[in-house]
Amino acid sequence: MNQYILLIFLTLITFIIPLETINISNYDYPHPNKEEENEYTISVINTGDFHGYFFAKEHKDIRTHESYNQGGAELLSTYINILKEEWKEKIMWLDAGDISSGGLEGRLSEGQIFIDFFNYHNLTAMTLGNHEFNYNREYIHQLMRTSKFDFLIGNIYNKTAGKKLFLPNQKISNIYQIGEVKIGVIGLTTVKIYHQHHYDFPELEFYDYRDIILEESSKLKNLGANAIILLGHFGLKCYNNLKLYEDKEKLKLRKKSDIQCPCENYENLKSVLESLPEGTIDAFIGGHLHMNTHHWINNIACSTTNGSNYFNVLYFKFDKNKQNNKINYILKDIQIEGPIPICSKIYDKALHCNLIENLKEINYTLGKLTYFTFHNQLIKSDISIIKRNNHWHDLIIESKKTIGYNYFLQKRNFKQESNLLNLIVDILKNYSKADFSILNANNIRKNLQPGVINYLNLYQLSPFDNLLCTFEMTGEEIIKMFGDLANDKMVYMVSGLKTYYTKSDNKFVKLLIYDNDITKCKEIDMNKNYIIATYDYLIDGNMEFQKVFKWYKRRKVKCSKLGTEIIYEAIKKIKYIGKDKYINKTNPRINWID
Ligand SMILES: [Zn+2]
Repeated sequence: MNQYILLIFLTLITFIIPLETINISNYDYPHPNKEEENEYTISVINTGDFHGYFFAKEHKDIRTHESYNQGGAELLSTYINILKEEWKEKIMWLDAGDISSGGLEGRLSEGQIFIDFFNYHNLTAMTLGNHEFNYNREYIHQLMRTSKFDFLIGNIYNKTAGKKLFLPNQKISNIYQIGEVKIGVIGLTTVKIYHQHHYDFPELEFYDYRDIILEESSKLKNLGANAIILLGHFGLKCYNNLKLYEDKEKLKLRKKSDIQCPCENYENLKSVLESLPEGTIDAFIGGHLHMNTHHWINNIACSTTNGSNYFNVLYFKFDKNKQNNKINYILKDIQIEGPIPICSKIYDKALHCNLIENLKEINYTLGKLTYFTFHNQLIKSDISIIKRNNHWHDLIIESKKTIGYNYFLQKRNFKQESNLLNLIVDILKNYSKADFSILNANNIRKNLQPGVINYLNLYQLSPFDNLLCTFEMTGEEIIKMFGDLANDKMVYMVSGLKTYYTKSDNKFVKLLIYDNDITKCKEIDMNKNYIIATYDYLIDGNMEFQKVFKWYKRRKVKCSKLGTEIIYEAIKKIKYIGKDKYINKTNPRINWID
């Protein structure tokens, strides 16, 4: 084809709006034009839990193999532009944290890709999530130092420095002029950080929420705040049956007068919100649990989002009245629009674009994939955001080079042997030449989808930069360790061992050891020293290993290479994982007995 014709053709395609679209915001969403005379409304965007996913995730419709994109900043940017165009100076944007861990681009750029995006769109403030503590001090300092916005976090205490404020751009709370009103925001993070994550911050303590909220709220009121928001890296889970859950997942404008379903008291948050004197805070904006909630507790409008795949917008309506030549703004109502799906196409019946791995697992109609409009504008990737990040985008393209193929959905099972996990523990054992290796399904964060295998999807299986580590234990210690590791939520996957548990209550019974051939097992020698391979996450004392380290002092610990690199090199040679290739049905590794 003539080059010019091709160019014209390509230009046309870019600008043609798809004929078949669906309007997902066909409800009466607030708009500045709809305001009444004595009314003043501002909009507040709530995002959170980007988890390293800056570029959209590529999914396929399981039925038609039609591809589409979900989540990430490149799509979200388009929604933000739409809202900014509508609300001009009457908009603020709060992010609930956890930009780290997950997407490869987040890791490669050390989180900078998000700081740049937030700076570009004038994010008002964010708080730190627990995953921001996954790396080291310098990582957090660099994130905060390069931001043009505030990091609001009031419940960390540095014992060594004797200070609450010790990080760059850190504040406990701040007041922001949004159009004609002043909005106070208090920032907090989950008190669970320390138990779940890093060990590189022994000087930090995390304080409970209630006293800080009360103290900061009264400060902000004295400074003239017209409304107060709690921004927290913690969340709510509010539904108690599937029907309510489905309702929670459909985009709507939500009001205080709506039927409110019950919330779980996760991390005591519900009790804290219930216990606050009326008017202490007006809204809570959170994340962390990856749950969409839009809920009113003790007259507080609560909004949390599900990862980078959805977001919410809160609308604060004020009564504007003049008294003695002074205009007063009294908050009269908050409405929440959400959950707004971040998608390049959506299923026209389900109104979301979540990855469906198995049609049998859903009990509603998906409909067909279609383009859609939000606030009457078509949603597509913001090309300027990709261009700004060409460098990282090129690296992601590079990481998509095919090294193998997988024809079947490879699940990370928790309580039964998984083909994928068996393969991974085999790879770790072979590489480290350990006597055996162990991992649990929590070390692998998702299932491996059918299709090509590349560095990117292997990285995403285990995005925490886990290192392969080996350590030494006697046979006697190994038996004791397996007793401690046994629990009713999951079973540890093994290579080089045959393990036995009770069918009725998941108690560890015994184990046998083998080298390469599972049919040639022998008893473990109680006095002999064995070398065990696993990930640093476990040998650092996380999960059930907390119990083990109460009696076991680590010996001969050696940590070598990134787990993902080792798996990548091995799969490059294997090329094809196959179905149940690593599960021996007649001679299982994990055995259940009466
Ligand atoms: Zn979190």
